[in-house]
Amino acid sequence: MSATRIDGTALAAQVKAEAAAEVKELVSRGIHPCLAVILVGEDPASQVYVRGKARDCAECGIESRVIRLPESTTQAQLLDRIGELAADESVHGILVQLPLPRQIDEAAIIDAIPPEKDVDGFSPVNVGRMQTGQPCFLPCTPAGCIRMIQSTGVSIDGKRAVVVGRSNIVGKPAALLLLEHNATVTICHSHTQNLAEICAGADILVAAVGRQGFITGEMVKPGAVVIDVGINRGADGKLHGDVDFAAASEKAAFITPVPGGVGPMTRAMLMKNTVQAAARQAK
Ligand code: NDP
Repeated sequence: MSATRIDGTALAAQVKAEAAAEVKELVSRGIHPCLAVILVGEDPASQVYVRGKARDCAECGIESRVIRLPESTTQAQLLDRIGELAADESVHGILVQLPLPRQIDEAAIIDAIPPEKDVDGFSPVNVGRMQTGQPCFLPCTPAGCIRMIQSTGVSIDGKRAVVVGRSNIVGKPAALLLLEHNATVTICHSHTQNLAEICAGADILVAAVGRQGFITGEMVKPGAVVIDVGINRGADGKLHGDVDFAAASEKAAFITPVPGGVGPMTRAMLMKNTVQAAARQAK
């Protein structure tokens, strides 16, 4: 069997087109969605991500404001900047690009973003709302994973889903969203015993580990949907996922590639959240 590739780039284009249509409708009512992205320091990967977000905004008709602060920025200075953006009614979404320099407490910063502008969905209020099934901003990567699974036509309902990884930004929320869609969910992590065996029983397998080739072909159930969140820079200088793509493709029914899979979808879901933030704040 050779798996069907889930094209994250094509699906992201579709999601961004939906966002652009929603922006048009908002603009016709005098609402101009705006995303503020704060970048502290010179981290090269963060610079690339921030440029990408500005490009996505332009594509969707969303105004983007990039606030660049020096590496030496203090926590108090960053909190002040967030406070200004929080009070600015023309800004609908606020995103602080992570990681932050060592002198800044990430949790305190995320906490300072008002929940109604927290388009990353990382603030404790949004996390709590998601957990209790209330309206919230879904974190972009897990929301993108769900959309990718849905795009296959395979129903999540009643399926056995395994998520490898339990981070607050990917693993845990991905597991929770799968549960919301009525999957029977197992979360694996670095203390899990019989991990290979557990993965091999998964109808839906989500890998968010951060280790190249961690999921081997033997760990994939025939006919499974495999979502590879991992982004790892290989010895060859190229980007690789957590899944051995060639071997897993022989077993899975559907699989996401890296690059061109979850990454573009994550960015597209951020545009959706920003539009949603503008619409909600206009009410
Ligand atoms: P973290 O490092 O925060 O979490 C990794 C998780 O993997 C942890 O829960 C850890 O377990 C688990 N893990 C690590 N080693 C093993 C092991 N040997 N066996 C079992 N479990 C293990 O990473 P993130 O969740 O932030 O990111 C995961 C990957 O996804 C990274 O490659 C990252 O770059 C990528 N990513 C991609 C995004 C995209 O848009 N495509 C967005 C965000 C992340 P434990 O908790 O026990 O330590």
